[in-house]
Amino acid sequence: MTAPAADPYLPGRPDGDLDVDRYELELDYRVATNRLEGRAQVYATAVRATVRVSLELQHRLRVTQVLVDGSRPDRWTHRGGLLVLKLKHEMAAGTQLVIDVRYSGQPAPVRGPWGEVGWEELTDGVIVAGQPDGAPSWFPCHDSPADKAAYRFTVTVEAGYEVVANGRLVSRSPRAGRVRWEYEQTEPMAPYLATLQIGRYLRVPTGPREEVLVPARLREAAEHDLGRQTEMIALFEELFGPYPFAAYTVVVTDDDLEIPLEAQGLSVFGANHMDGRRGSERLVAHELAHQWFGNSLTVGLWRDIWLHEGFACYAEWLWSEASGGRTAQEQARAAHTRLAGLPQDLVIGDPGPDAMFDDRLYKRGALALHALRTSLGDETFFRLVRTWTARYRHGTVSTKEFVVCAELESDRPVAALLDPWLLQKDLPPWGAG
Ligand SMILES: [Zn+2]
Repeated sequence: MTAPAADPYLPGRPDGDLDVDRYELELDYRVATNRLEGRAQVYATAVRATVRVSLELQHRLRVTQVLVDGSRPDRWTHRGGLLVLKLKHEMAAGTQLVIDVRYSGQPAPVRGPWGEVGWEELTDGVIVAGQPDGAPSWFPCHDSPADKAAYRFTVTVEAGYEVVANGRLVSRSPRAGRVRWEYEQTEPMAPYLATLQIGRYLRVPTGPREEVLVPARLREAAEHDLGRQTEMIALFEELFGPYPFAAYTVVVTDDDLEIPLEAQGLSVFGANHMDGRRGSERLVAHELAHQWFGNSLTVGLWRDIWLHEGFACYAEWLWSEASGGRTAQEQARAAHTRLAGLPQDLVIGDPGPDAMFDDRLYKRGALALHALRTSLGDETFFRLVRTWTARYRHGTVSTKEFVVCAELESDRPVAALLDPWLLQKDLPPWGAG
C-alpha cells in the first residue's frame, strides 16, 4: 500500500488519504431523461492516520446519503466536485473502511483543461470517456490513475438497449420493461478507464475474444473495418506479450466522434471511423495497443503519458509494416521530417497538462522507441518490451522505471540515448542513438 502522490497536472485534487480496493456501483438510469440514481460502495484503506477523507464527484450530481461502515460520519460536505467526510474518530493508517454514497441527478461531462470529459449523452444512448479527469462525472471516486481497483457495475436501463461496462457480463435480467446488467471487472483498473456504453446496438462476435457493438446500419462496414483485429492481437501478443485482459470489445456509436476513445477491455469508435474501406485502421491498431500501454501498464502521474501514446503510436507503425503498408522505418522517417518542420517547444517527458494530447508527443514518443529499437536491435528491444509488460502487468509505471528496466534488459546506457528524446526540446537528428 502506497500513498498515491498528488499529480501536479491535476491541481486541487485530493492527494490520497485513501487507497481504493473495490468500487461497487449500482446505477439506475433512464435514457429518455438522462436521469441517474446511483449508489457507490467504495471499499478503501486509509493510507495515513486521518479524521477526514474525500472522494471526487461532480457537483451536478446531488449526494443524498453518506455512510461509513454502515453509520453516519460526523459530517460531510459536497462542494466544488469534492465530497469530504469528517469521521467520528481518527483512523489509523491501514484501516479498512466502506464508504456508501447515494446520489442522483442528470450527469454531464466535467469541464476542465481538456474540454468536456466523462459522461456524455448521445442522440439515443450514452458514452463515457473518462480520460484524463472525467470519472467523477458519474461516480464518486479517488480519480488518480495510480489508484487502481476492482469494480462491479450493476446498471438498470430501459429494455431495447445494449449496455456495456468494463469486465465480464455476469448477468442480464429483464424485469418490467427494464433490464438489469451486471459486469465484474476483476483486473485492477484506474478510474479514468471505467466506462459505461448504452445504445441500440447489435452485439456481433468478431473473433475468439472479440466482439463489436454496432448500430445495424453500420454492421457491414464495421465488420470489414475491424476484420483484422484478431490478426492485430496475434501480432501484438508476439511483440508485446500476452493480451492483458479476458476479452476485447469495440463499440461503434451511431453518432460521429472526434477521436476514438479507450477504456479497459474496450474501445469506442464513431460512425465516422467506419467507412467500409479500413480508412481508420491506424486508429484501430492504436486503440488496441492501449490495452497493454495505458490500461494494463498505467502511468501514476500524467506527465509520463508518452509511455501510453508513444507505444500506441509505435504499434500503428508496427501494424502498418506487418500488414503490407509502409514499414516502421519509413513511418519513423516521415514522422521525423514532419516534426523537424514544427515548433520544438515540447518536452515529451513532462509536456505540461495543455500538451498531454499534442500529436507531436505521440510521434516523438514513437520515434524515441524506434531509436531505442535501432540501437538495441530487434531481439533485445522486443524482449525488453515483453519484460516491461510482464513485470508491470496491471500495475503503475513511470519513465524512470522504463529506463531502469531497459538498462537491466539490454545492459546498455539507455538513459543517455532516451534523454534527448524525452527531456529536451530540440528534436534529436535522424539516426541519433
Ligand atoms: Zn492514444
